[in-house]
Amino acid sequence: MLHPDTPAKCCSYCGGRDHDFEACPKRKADAEKETAARGREGAAPIDVTSETLP
Ligand SMILES: [Zn+2]
Repeated sequence: MLHPDTPAKCCSYCGGRDHDFEACPKRKADAEKETAARGREGAAPIDVTSETLP
């Protein structure tokens, strides 16, 4: 039986039922990880052009 008073929260990211996709703590954590990884990548780019060819 359905409960109209209870909002149907079902996170499509981690499958949690206590929050929505927008409020997913796991999604936020992953987003921060992605941002950190991008920043690291930009700070230390792979410099292949500086390598001298034989
Ligand atoms: Zn979630």
